[in-house]
Parts: sequence; C-alpha cells; structure tokens
Amino acid sequence: MADPTKTYCKYFFNHVALYNGRVANPCCRYGWGVKDATIKPMPKVNSFKEILHSEQWQKLRHNSMAGIPEPGCKKCYVEEANGIKSLRNMANEMFREDKMDIRAGMDSTRDWTNVLGKLYETKLTYIEMNLGNHCNLACNICSSTLSTKWEKDDAELTSRGFQRGVFGPDTKLEVPFNAEDYEHVETIKFVGGEPMLHPKFMSTVEDIINSGHAEHIRLQIFTNASWVPKGKLIARLKQFKKVRISLSIDGTEQVNNYSRHLSDWSIVNATARKWLEIEKESKTIQVKWEPTLSIYNANHVPEMFKWWFDLNRIVKEVGFYEAIWNEEQGDINYYLNNVHSPEYLRPGNYADKTVSKDIDKFLDEITIRFDESLLSPSRRKLGGKTHDALEDDYRFRLNSIKDPIKKAKSLILEPVNNKELTDFKKFTVLLDDIRKKDIKKDLPKLWEISNKILDKS
Ligand code: SF4
Repeated sequence: MADPTKTYCKYFFNHVALYNGRVANPCCRYGWGVKDATIKPMPKVNSFKEILHSEQWQKLRHNSMAGIPEPGCKKCYVEEANGIKSLRNMANEMFREDKMDIRAGMDSTRDWTNVLGKLYETKLTYIEMNLGNHCNLACNICSSTLSTKWEKDDAELTSRGFQRGVFGPDTKLEVPFNAEDYEHVETIKFVGGEPMLHPKFMSTVEDIINSGHAEHIRLQIFTNASWVPKGKLIARLKQFKKVRISLSIDGTEQVNNYSRHLSDWSIVNATARKWLEIEKESKTIQVKWEPTLSIYNANHVPEMFKWWFDLNRIVKEVGFYEAIWNEEQGDINYYLNNVHSPEYLRPGNYADKTVSKDIDKFLDEITIRFDESLLSPSRRKLGGKTHDALEDDYRFRLNSIKDPIKKAKSLILEPVNNKELTDFKKFTVLLDDIRKKDIKKDLPKLWEISNKILDKS
C-alpha cells in the first residue's frame, strides 16, 4: 500500500529554492536533472507564487500525499533507507512535534480537519535564493560550480590530467519581484558564491524591504568573512525581523591561508570580530559560525573551536558558556558541516587518528570550563527549577556545546581510503604548482602523515 509518510515533504507546500532566477526547486537538494524528475527549469520565472501554484508543483504535492515517490527526491529517500535523518525528515519535523500524523487521511473515524488543513496548506513561507557562483575566494574544498575564482584553476587542473568540472561565471541574477510574494514569508536564505558581494544583492534586499514585509522576515546569509561589512549594508539588514549571519571559516592562521585560497587570516579574524560586535549592539542580528571539516583542518579541531570560544568571550565580555549560548534560540552559536565531495578531501582521510585523543582532552576541558562558567551569574538563570530539571538542563546544554566537536571526532575516525589519499596527493601537487603555494611549508604535518601512509601501502 502506498505510504505517504515516506513521500510527504512540507517543502512542496511552503518552500522555493531559486537558482539565479531560472531554476526553481522545492529545495537545494532536489535533483531536477534526474530522469523523470517532475520539476524542470522554467524559461522565465515571473513570481514565486506562480512557481508554487504551477502544474508541476501541484503534481509534486498530489503525489507526495498519495505516497508516490518523486524521482528528484532520491537523495532524501536513500539517506532515510540508510538510517540517516534526511532534509525531508527535518522539513517535516514540526509535524512530529505537534503529534500530527501524515496518515491522517487514512483514518476516517476521526475528525482530522485541522490536521489535514495544516498539512495541505500551500503558503510560501520559506525562500532560498542562490545568487550564482560570484565569489572572491577559491577555497580548496570548493570548485567553479560555486566560485568564479575557481574557473581558471579547474581548467588548468583538467588540462594537466586531473579531471574537474569547469564552469564559467553564472551570476546574471534575475529575482522575480512581486511584493505579494513576500506576504507570508518568514525566512529567506541567501547562499552563493559569496552572496553579499553579488552586485545585485543590495538591490534584492531593497526590493524585499520595499515589499513592506521585511518586519516579519528572518534572513539567513552565508559569508566567507573575507571583507568587513559597511554601515549601509548593516542599516538595511536591521530592517528585517531577524538576520542570521553564517560565517564560513574553516580554521585559523595557516589553515585558513592555505585552504581558503585568496583569503587572509588577519582580515578573516577582524571580520568575525566585527560581526560579533555588530551582534552585541544589535537586537536583531545574530552570528553563527559554520565551519566545514575536511582533511585540511582535521588536526586543528581544538584550536579552531578555542578561537571561536575565546573571540566570543572577549567581544561579549561574558563567561565561556554565556558567550556561545544563544538563550533566545536555546542553542549554541556554531554548527559543524563536513566535506562529502570531493571524497579525497574527506576529514576521514587525515591519517593520524591519534588526534582524536587531543579532541577527547579538549572535550574534558570544555566540561570544566562549562562548570566554572555555570557557577557565575548564568547559574542563577537556571535557578527556580527542581533538581531533576536542573540536571536535564545541564546535560542538554553541555551536550549541545560538545556535539559538534564529537561529530568532528567521529568523522576523523572514519577509515582512510588509499585511492582517495592518492588523489589528494595528486590534487595538492598540481594545485600548489598552479597557485604557487607549498603545503610542506603551510600544513607540514598533514603532508608528512599522508605520504607516510601512502609509502607504506
Ligand atoms: S523530499 Fe528531500 S529532496 Fe525532495 S523536496 Fe523534500 S527535502 Fe528536498
């Protein structure tokens, strides 16, 4: 029997992910190029509502309620089959919290009107805007699909026998502007490239402000922190209900300078500090650090987390725990991503697994710092609760702080794949030559340990 619990996705009902004004998908993971995918690129997008109510999207919604799998959503189905929480699971999570059941329509003995009303409700509340591959950096873990600065190097690597996809600039942004589109929107996420440096970023933000709906919209903007924000931009951002600035910073000093090509650690550090200062004096701008773990920073985990913890503490002039805990969201102000592809840059390919001991030591230090910090004024904030509630609260907060670091440890402990490590070596030798860099000088431990493993094999 068809099972809608396996196919229903809230994103078919409330979300549009727009790529450069031409390709509109139900989410960033949807595979419109997959055979038989329902959604195909539109020649021209006139409005977000037109997309959401188009025949293609109606078919998506109908099939998802009827338990018919959508070919473009294969990535989610595969993850779920492997016991991994998919984006679909996350999109639907709110219904689980409400104890609502997607099988509602199957049970005719109950009055499911409200439940079904909420499930079927088609209202644009969440937009993702991908502004193309305009970027000022060429990070090693990236490629020309996401950065214009990679095009030349991808072409050169390919011409020297190391196959890479080569993509030209795709930055001709066309966001359809229709004030009504923003009527119910709660969240807009900007991704790139480097979205805030896109020539049309400011005018896009101004269009949204001019729609009259900015005050109920939260923005989430990713940035590589390679430039310091100016007053004009901040003034615009302050007109939104909330803004979350997600900082993509993957390490300090040489780790940054080597792996995030064309960026300079002193500027990155100053920019991160500036954003935290803006956060401190603003009621609506929040900053989150979102590093990506790869082979480059795998042996620098404690050092990069310490950097973030200390920078927050210094700028905010509070204790360890208060500096990184966002009380309003009930969460920490960082999230760890990791490289899946290209596989040769996976963190598990860092061959010296003893670094996990340094991470364990660091996790113990965190418990001590957390306990010390809770004895300061923030401990009183937990007052008034029963002992058990206090204990649960303590564990929840401490685990939230430690989980991304534990995640880093488990990713590093994944086995090395010698074929991937060989590719890493080839990639590095060629890229260093092209970029006039030297991994032996900048990340000597990584180079030495990788070679040792390959020599043994
Ligand atoms: S099922 Fe997955 S791929 Fe499909 S729209 Fe939902 S989140 Fe995206």
